[in-house]
Amino acid sequence: MTQQNKIALVTGGSRGLGKNMALKIADKGLDVLLTYHSKKEEAEAVAETIRSKGQKAAVLQLDTANSTAFPAFVEQTQQELKQHFGTGKIDYLVNNAGIGINAPFVETTEEQFDLLMNIHLKGVFFLTQQLLPMLNDGGGIINVSSGLARFALPGYAAYGALKAAVETLTRYQAKELGSRGIRSNVIAPGAIETDFNGGAVRDNEQYNQIVASFTALGRVGLPDDIGGVVAFLCTDDARWINAQRIEVSGGQSI
Ligand code: NAD
Repeated sequence: MTQQNKIALVTGGSRGLGKNMALKIADKGLDVLLTYHSKKEEAEAVAETIRSKGQKAAVLQLDTANSTAFPAFVEQTQQELKQHFGTGKIDYLVNNAGIGINAPFVETTEEQFDLLMNIHLKGVFFLTQQLLPMLNDGGGIINVSSGLARFALPGYAAYGALKAAVETLTRYQAKELGSRGIRSNVIAPGAIETDFNGGAVRDNEQYNQIVASFTALGRVGLPDDIGGVVAFLCTDDARWINAQRIEVSGGQSI
C-alpha cells in the first residue's frame, strides 16, 4: 500500500503569495487543495502545474468574507478529499486569502472595516474552527499577518490592527491545540510585488523605491521570497516551531 501524502489546504491559492506557497508546498511532496474567490481558471492553472510536479491538486471556490458559507465549504472539501485524495483529512491549513484597502484612519468607513475584518479575522477564526475536525493531529496552521502589524505606514490602521489580531489568535491556537500536536505559526511578509492593494508595490515605481529604501536588503519582496518559508512550516523539519511570528520582509523598517 502506498503511503498517504500529507495534504495542505491553501486559501487564495490562485495568484500572488498563495500561488507561490501552493507550488512550493507541492515541491516538498505534499498534495494541495487550493481555493479561489472568483478566478477559477487561474486556480486550475496552478493545480495543473502542481499535478505536473507529480502531486495531487484540486481547486474549490471560497469567499472567506462569508462565514455562513463555511459549513457547505467544509462539506465540499470533505467530498473532494474522499473522491480524489483517498482520505477525509488535511494536515496543514494555510490561511492566506486577503485583500488590502489603503485608507487613512480618519477616513476609514465601517464598510471598509467590516470587509477587512470579515476576511482577515472573522474568516480566519471560523474557517479554522470549522476545519479543525478535518485537520490531522500532528498537523499545522499557518496564518498570514503583515509587517504592518509591527510598524505603521499611513493608510493601514484597520488592516494592521486586524493582522495584529491574527498574530494573537495564532498564539491562542498554539496553546489550545498543542494537546493534539497541532502547531500554529504566523508569517508576516513585508511589502511584496503582487496584485495586493491594486498592485501598488509592484506597479507604482516611486512607492516601490521608497519601500526598498527602508528595507535592509535594498529591494521589495517577490512572491518567490515567501512560499518556501510556508512550505518549510508544512514539513516535519519545522515540528518544534510553534506559536511563532516569522517576519519575511528582508528587514523592512528595522
Ligand atoms: P493578491 O491580491 O495577489 O492575492 C490575494 C488572494 O486572496 C487571491 O487568491 C484572492 O482570490 C484571495 N482572496 C481575496 N479576497 C478573498 C475572499 N473574500 N475570499 C477568498 N479569497 C479571497 O494578494 P497577496 O499579496 O498574494 O496577499 C496574500 C496574503 O498576504 C493576504 O492575506 C495579504 O494580506 C498578505 N500580505 C500581503 C503583502 C503584500 O505586500 N503583497 C504583505 C503582507 C501580507
